[in-house]
Amino acid sequence: MTVLLTGGAGYIGSHVAVEMINAGFNVVIADNLSAGHKDVPERIKTLTGVSFPFFEIDICDKEAVRGIFDSFSVDAVVHAAGYKAVAESVSLPLKYYRNNTDGALTLLEVMAERGVKAFVFSSSATVYGIPDTVPIKETAHTGDCLNAYGRTKYIIEKILEDLCRSDPLFSAVPLRYFNPVGAHRSGLLGDDPIGVPNNLMPYILRVAAGRLPELNIFGNDYPTKDGTCIRDYIHVVDLAKGHTAAVDYAVKHSGYEVFNLGTGIGYSVLDMVRVFEKVTGRPLPYKFAPRREGDSAEYLADPSKAEKNLGWRAVLTIEDMCFDAQRYEGGKEQ
Ligand code: UDP
Repeated sequence: MTVLLTGGAGYIGSHVAVEMINAGFNVVIADNLSAGHKDVPERIKTLTGVSFPFFEIDICDKEAVRGIFDSFSVDAVVHAAGYKAVAESVSLPLKYYRNNTDGALTLLEVMAERGVKAFVFSSSATVYGIPDTVPIKETAHTGDCLNAYGRTKYIIEKILEDLCRSDPLFSAVPLRYFNPVGAHRSGLLGDDPIGVPNNLMPYILRVAAGRLPELNIFGNDYPTKDGTCIRDYIHVVDLAKGHTAAVDYAVKHSGYEVFNLGTGIGYSVLDMVRVFEKVTGRPLPYKFAPRREGDSAEYLADPSKAEKNLGWRAVLTIEDMCFDAQRYEGGKEQ
């Protein structure tokens, strides 16, 4: 089976590439390297021992996308390319709407031209907005997104739903990621956010490396066990394996079927600090800061649908996540 993977040089996409290649898929990667690193395809080859075609193209460029479909008999598309910086999406919403929806539409149009029917999409748990109850099931309300980034994910989910209604043979599988963290155990692949990170784990890593003075914990007066927010952190390798299972599912089914990818286990910000300290053996400086706008006290997946239908379950621990993230960061500094 040949899978076109967009965003394969990025944080999530590179791990998806490794897991799909290890599962025996023929993988073709398209990435414009706007966030991904140019040596990532080489690293994927080193890790898997498998060579694969890599196209440095913008997936909004329809001719370039057609070129890939001309050269390979694509059976399924995994679409992991897109802008993902939440804060930037608030200040530059048009950039996000244009790029993220255009990329998806261009791919879907070329798939329609070529009769390719299976599409797995990198969505996000952010489509749930502020949840009424946790753990969150896929049937929970969506759409009250808190930023343009999240709304692009929601809009693309709706496009896919409409497409499945219009074409009974089409199969769309959006995967709603909870909080992906960690890195490949080899230390060769990981997260490389540009500038000062917004997300917790990259921020912790910068503090641990002495590049930022301390972690600001946003809020310690939430109605949680220690007052700090609880999230469902999932190891990026587990998340990547979820994509392999989703591709298998997408090619065997038709229709629109969405899945949460999370562990179902919640950790507070203070839990994360303590686990990180335990794994590194060093104290992590932090202070409490005011709440961050838009944060929910608790965000937790109900991952049972993915387990039942995809036969997939996250298995790596919070210690694995912190250890692997730290190892990748350490490797970058050498
Ligand atoms: N967080 C924090 N300090 C930071 C970054 C994040 O206390 O510098 C908290 C944030 O308030 C949230 C959790 O860590 O409760 C996870 O935040 P992240 O931005 O990684 O993910 P998301 O908000 O999308 O769940």
